[in-house]
Amino acid sequence: MAQLSDRVRGIVRADLRDLEPYDPSFTPCEVNLSANENTYGMPEAVRAAVNEALCTVPTNRYPDPMSGGLRDRLAARAGLARENVCVGNGGDELLFNFFLAFGGEGHVLLDCPPSFGVYRIYSQMVGTEVLDVPRDPETFEPDYDELAEKAADASMVIVTTPNNPTGNLAPREQVARLCSACPGIVMADEAYIEFAGPGASAEPLLAEYDNLVVLHTLSKAFCMAGARLGYVFAAPDVVDVLGAVRQPYSVNVFSQVAAEAVLDAADAFQPTIDAIVTERARLTGMLSALPGVRTWSSAANFVLLRVPGARRVRERLRDEFSILVRDFSATPGLADCLRITVGTMQEDDRVIDALAAILEEES
Ligand code: PMP
Repeated sequence: MAQLSDRVRGIVRADLRDLEPYDPSFTPCEVNLSANENTYGMPEAVRAAVNEALCTVPTNRYPDPMSGGLRDRLAARAGLARENVCVGNGGDELLFNFFLAFGGEGHVLLDCPPSFGVYRIYSQMVGTEVLDVPRDPETFEPDYDELAEKAADASMVIVTTPNNPTGNLAPREQVARLCSACPGIVMADEAYIEFAGPGASAEPLLAEYDNLVVLHTLSKAFCMAGARLGYVFAAPDVVDVLGAVRQPYSVNVFSQVAAEAVLDAADAFQPTIDAIVTERARLTGMLSALPGVRTWSSAANFVLLRVPGARRVRERLRDEFSILVRDFSATPGLADCLRITVGTMQEDDRVIDALAAILEEES
């Protein structure tokens, strides 16, 4: 926390003095492909249903504290019961609650970096030791043998599938292997699973493993990043503890009714999800064809690429072309890497034209 005043530095919890807050590196730009949102927008009919629900929701009463109606809808879609579902103010809140409940002093998180940076921040916030099993530097595939071995000594394991920012999908049998090996709790972070095709989720393992937590969000495929709505599926006693550490009323009435309307029309999002998957292949192909650019295949709604001088390329995209992408070049293992969210065809054409112009000038 570089910006702490001396006064606060003197009174803040000692182990938080050097905490680096999560920085989404946001700058307003005409084309924002930096945060893996769904840039296609909500189908019109769904948006109308959301608007109607928002207009009539009473605000003088607190929200349903455990979001019963929402949990029922989520459970029904997955063939589970309300007791298997906990909702949160974005997946981020549920991740924090996961660390609060299962991390802390004496607890060890097994992580396979490069992965979602928030895990490390939350580990530090609650004083959890992190054991890293880095991904293969070429393919970014985890070393599942080593992970399974180390999982035996871990309190928590997180497998991000598809992984952010590399896009790798974890096979279900490997998630199962980790659930068997870990005496603690295993999370499959499936924030992007809708883009990975049918059958990709670890959810069916919930019937077999009571130490599995599957994290989802409505932020990506379902166009609800602004409403902040995440959910987990897990065994009822795991949901109970996540509920116990949760802030009261963390999901506000607007988000609850909007999410219910979205879930009632969830199938209407499939054409957009399919379009993003098709566009991902087109974007990856166009990026790979640029001189000096390497890409990795992705099961999510973003593409990781390596490009010479990535940091400068990202700055030029932002400052000269008003296009925002995410720079990972300072992350260990991701030298010269950028991550680009799959946008609409127009947005992606714009980023490709800009990159082509920059790369030609820089060569
Ligand atoms: N997990 C992963 C891997 C993510 O990339 C994100 C969003 N960046 C989240 C969880 C949390 O998403 P949200 O808080 O928007 O639900």
